[in-house]
Amino acid sequence: MASIVLTNVDKVYAGGVKAVNSLNLEIKDGEFMVLVGPSGCGKSTALRMIAGLEDISGGEIHIGEKQVNHLPPKDRDIAMVFQNYALYPHMTVEENLAFGLKLRKMPKTEIQKRVNEAAKMLGLDQYLKRKPAALSGGQRQRVAMGRAIVREPQAFLMDEPLSNLDAKLRVSMRASLNQMHERLGVTTVYVTHDQVEAMTLGDRVCVLRDGLLQQVDTPQNLFDKP
Ligand code: ADP
Ligand code: ADP
Repeated sequence: MASIVLTNVDKVYAGGVKAVNSLNLEIKDGEFMVLVGPSGCGKSTALRMIAGLEDISGGEIHIGEKQVNHLPPKDRDIAMVFQNYALYPHMTVEENLAFGLKLRKMPKTEIQKRVNEAAKMLGLDQYLKRKPAALSGGQRQRVAMGRAIVREPQAFLMDEPLSNLDAKLRVSMRASLNQMHERLGVTTVYVTHDQVEAMTLGDRVCVLRDGLLQQVDTPQNLFDKP
């Protein structure tokens, strides 16, 4: 686990769009931070800069002690979950969960242990031998989350992970995400345009608008005031 600190972070895209404007944000060790705001406010760009999928135009990003400005994603010790699950279609659930660990040449017994723990936590025990095509959308998203969990990264970064799911599934996935965070306590940055998700998931919520930080506070302070 690690804190994530953004200091005066800018993003100017080719063509001159200033997607993120001097963003200062400290995500504490173990905190669940939600970035929320209307489409185009810069939340995905901010997340992708933390992940290293997008270069920053100015400022600094620290993950833990490390200044990561120029580190590629694989050296940032983070795991990302996207709205399209990006599972390997020819592999079973179990193989999808294990794949990243096998690449790292982790011992088989440790891989098995982590895969079983993740499957249990996410309610995937009965589906380990199935392929993604034989799963529901919610189950696929659980597999995608499982792949992030098994790596035991310093931070989880999630970009609208529930937005392809129907309303009922979103409710149960929010509950699972809350449980997962309670169990693992991993520093999490979660992007959504959905205020309900922001309220129910965030320890704190960061509201962005036109690339600018508007407010950062607990959901209670932001949304529950009369
Ligand atoms: P959000 O995630 O809040 O919807 P984004 O971070 O995707 O917002 O986009 C912020 C702004 O940057 C928008 O004006 C968007 O059009 C622009 N933008 C995003 N990606 C690119 C890109 N690759 N090239 C140019 N402009 C982009
Ligand atoms: P790691 O744990 O090392 O990130 P992953 O299993 O998550 O390993 O994926 C390795 C790479 O393959 C990542 O860059 C990921 O985005 C990409 N990837 C994952 N699933 C698919 C897929 N179904 N098709 C194409 N690329 C994928």
